[in-house]
Amino acid sequence: MKAGLPANEAERLAALRRYDILDSGAEQAYDDLTRLAAHIAGTPIALISLIDRDRQWFKSKVGLEATETPRDVAFCAHAILRPGDTLVVPDATRDRRFADNPLVTGAPAIRFYAGAPLVTPEGQALGTLCVIDSQPRQLSEEGLAALEALSRQVVAQFELRRTARELHEQLANREVYLAQLEDYQKQLSEENRELQRASLTDALTRIGNRAALDLRLDEEIARAQRHGTALSLLLADADHFKQYNDTWGHPAGDVVLQMLAQVLRRRTRASDFVARYGGEEFAVLLPTTDRDSARRVAEQIRVAVEATGFPERKVTISAGVATFGGSIRDRESLLRAADEALYAAKRGGRNRVVHAADMTQ
Ligand code: GH3
Ligand code: MG
Ligand code: MG
Repeated sequence: MKAGLPANEAERLAALRRYDILDSGAEQAYDDLTRLAAHIAGTPIALISLIDRDRQWFKSKVGLEATETPRDVAFCAHAILRPGDTLVVPDATRDRRFADNPLVTGAPAIRFYAGAPLVTPEGQALGTLCVIDSQPRQLSEEGLAALEALSRQVVAQFELRRTARELHEQLANREVYLAQLEDYQKQLSEENRELQRASLTDALTRIGNRAALDLRLDEEIARAQRHGTALSLLLADADHFKQYNDTWGHPAGDVVLQMLAQVLRRRTRASDFVARYGGEEFAVLLPTTDRDSARRVAEQIRVAVEATGFPERKVTISAGVATFGGSIRDRESLLRAADEALYAAKRGGRNRVVHAADMTQ
């Protein structure tokens, strides 16, 4: 007769899955327990049988070759229906539940069966530790108690396994979490870098903006002071640019500003720093460049702008240059001196360079 299903079958199967033990390999700890069970009961066969949905699967076996049988014929499927009791069948041929069982009528010709349910701490019977003989027999009180004690040991092994597995999972989760955190931090710092880059770049001309110039000025002044090297600053302003805008339109003016930025970059060294200082004003910071060199660089830039073929008309710049040293000893005085020189260049007729040192007071 086929065993019915336990009332809590779904939960029971879920519990069984949580141990992740079905189809696992042989283990000494379980084999020791089955061998002990067989010895104590004096039977040729002892099994740790787990009742899966459609089969019974043996975690450990003594005296049997099969690794599983259909659930329909499993004695243990009957045993788990009463988790609190060990099922003892002294002679299967005399028990109507098993008399017509193929394991009784055929090989291995079971007569005696005793199965102690493997009950989890939550009360789910996963299977049994069972002993089997082809002879009818009885199990003594002590034998029964021993079988039940061993079945508790089997469950203790299951619990150990589950705990180890959960710990392992937690560790793996922790590693995944840490890796995610690291990714996130990397992304954040990349975004930070990008933000910083954007906040220091002029959107129209893609060169440095005024904030970037201020930062670089501080750095270069500190470096010049530390090493006693020269440092010059050039401020350039497009001449009559308002008129250009008024005549050709603001977008055309924007193109000129972009082209001016390109000319400035091409006419300077990689170690120089070009920035858009204001609307149509540019700055070039010239490290290790003394007064004479700065004059030369500024003049080259002025000539290059004048020679550039802008779309609508010729464009020129006026430039003021100042070199660090003397009364020029900080960022403000360097900027002021260059600005005053630029103003002098405008006053002097535009399209020209004036060095602060050449100004008559
Ligand atoms: P000056 O020779 O004295 O420098 O004459 P100017 O016309 O260049 O000087 P002014 O300061 O009177 O005018 C500057 C003009 O620059 C005014 C403004 O229309 C233009 N300008 C400022 N920023 C931008 C910009 O982003 N795009 C365009 N197209 N024009 C700008
Ligand atoms: Mg101008
Ligand atoms: Mg201006």
